[in-house]
Amino acid sequence: MNKQTAKLIIEELSRHYEDKPALNFSSAYELLIAVILSAQCTDERVNKVTAELFKEYNTPEKMLTLKKEELAKKIYSCGFYNTKAEHILSASKDIMDKFGGTVPSEIEPLRTLAGVGRKTANVVYSVYFKGDAIAVDTHVFRVSNRIGLVNESNELKTELALNKILEKKVWSKAHHYLIYHGRRVCKAIKPDCANCQIEKYCKKNFKKK
Ligand code: SF4
Repeated sequence: MNKQTAKLIIEELSRHYEDKPALNFSSAYELLIAVILSAQCTDERVNKVTAELFKEYNTPEKMLTLKKEELAKKIYSCGFYNTKAEHILSASKDIMDKFGGTVPSEIEPLRTLAGVGRKTANVVYSVYFKGDAIAVDTHVFRVSNRIGLVNESNELKTELALNKILEKKVWSKAHHYLIYHGRRVCKAIKPDCANCQIEKYCKKNFKKK
C-alpha cells in the first residue's frame, strides 16, 4: 500500500472514532496500571475495578503496601489476576527503586520497567506524555494487516512497518482509531465488511469473497 492510501484510511477512520482511550485515569501511574489491567479485559471492566482500587492505591508507594495475593483479589474480575498483580507490583517497585517514585516520561526507560511490555510503554508514552508511538495490540495487529496497511507476521514488525507508512504526527491517533475499528467493525470473528467505512481500501474485505 502506498503512503497516500494509508493517509486516506486514517483520515476516514478519524471521522468515526475518538483519538483517546476509553480508560479512566488521572496520572501517568494510573494510566500505566489501567493499561496493564486491560489485557484480555474490557475497558468498562477495568474502569470499574480502578475506580475502587485507585481510591487507596493510586501511587507506586501505596500499591507496594499490598501483597500480591491482596492485589490479585482486588483485580480478580479483570482476569489473569495473578500475572497482572505480579506485573503491577514489579513495575511499581522499579518506579520506586529506579525512578524516584515517578513514572518515566521517555519511551526507553518506560520500556525497561519490569512487568511493562512494549505495547503498554507505548500507550503511556503516547497518551499521557503526548509522544509519538504506535502501540500494537491484538486489534491494531489484526486490522492493519487485514486492511493491507502492512503485511507483517508479528506485533513488533507491524509497529515498525506502521511507523514507516504513516506520518509520525498520526501514530498515536492511528493507534486509537485502529483499536476502535477492530472492536466495533473489523472484529476478529465476523468482521462487518458490509458496514465498514474503509471497505473500498481494504485488501481483505471478506464481502468481496
Ligand atoms: S472491509 Fe472488512 S476486513 Fe476490511 S477493514 Fe473493513 S471490516 Fe475489516
